[in-house]
Amino acid sequence: MTEGKTRQIKFLFPEWRDKALTFSYDDAQIYDRRLIDIFNQYGMKATFHLNSGTLDQEGFIPSGEVQDLYAGHEVACHAVTHPYFNQLSMAQTVAELYEDRAALEQYSGRIVRGLSYPFGEYNDRLIAAAKNLGIVYSRTVEDTMNFALPSDFMRWHPSCHHDKATDAFMDDFLHPQGFRNLSLLYIWGHSFEFERNRNWDHIAHICDKLHGRQDVWYAANIEIYEYVTAMRSLVLSVDGTMLYNPAAVPLYLCVEGGHVLLEAGKTLSLRACSETR
Ligand SMILES: [Zn+2]
Repeated sequence: MTEGKTRQIKFLFPEWRDKALTFSYDDAQIYDRRLIDIFNQYGMKATFHLNSGTLDQEGFIPSGEVQDLYAGHEVACHAVTHPYFNQLSMAQTVAELYEDRAALEQYSGRIVRGLSYPFGEYNDRLIAAAKNLGIVYSRTVEDTMNFALPSDFMRWHPSCHHDKATDAFMDDFLHPQGFRNLSLLYIWGHSFEFERNRNWDHIAHICDKLHGRQDVWYAANIEIYEYVTAMRSLVLSVDGTMLYNPAAVPLYLCVEGGHVLLEAGKTLSLRACSETR
């Protein structure tokens, strides 16, 4: 057995932030325009899950507007026709996902890898198909009412629907009682709900309360996925003195109380590190 103590390595989010905030909005109705105005005003980052088959219909965002409207945010899949996935054959499942990805990539000019489940329906066959078709994460509608990182990105349970984002809940996120490491607040919903319920002031209030903080990383769903996946891919030598980051994003670490930036694709010797300090 190798002797020596295990070093305490703590992860932080980019720029040494210990909290992350992400939003996810489904269906691409025209009210996404007003929602994006609010998000942009407050510097928020969000993911928009679009049904490529309903774009261009009355009340929905035109496909020709996707690239400009969602610039600065993430465009992700929500299946072509917003189906009940538990009713579909494998062939239909594959078509719903693959054609949606292809269309959204064409409209947005970007690679699309995210999904949210229409009606919150998912099953093992769907998840297997989605992964095989290049989808790396998918959001459910099962609110955790906590700030934990997802254990399985294909069953990514959000913190809460925006209706449940109360001041008390947001205060708990911003000012935890006791120790909490790496917390993620994930809020989801539909922009048409603000129109229907005449409560646009609610999302403005959420943004006002949570924006512009040095301790919060504002990120789209895919950025959270990439960072957390990179964290989980960190390679350590047996004695814990060498760290290798095989991922494509830099990792922000706290080792024995000091900040260590581990660049993408780089190996770092902590022994050499501490000697030069
Ligand atoms: Zn939907």
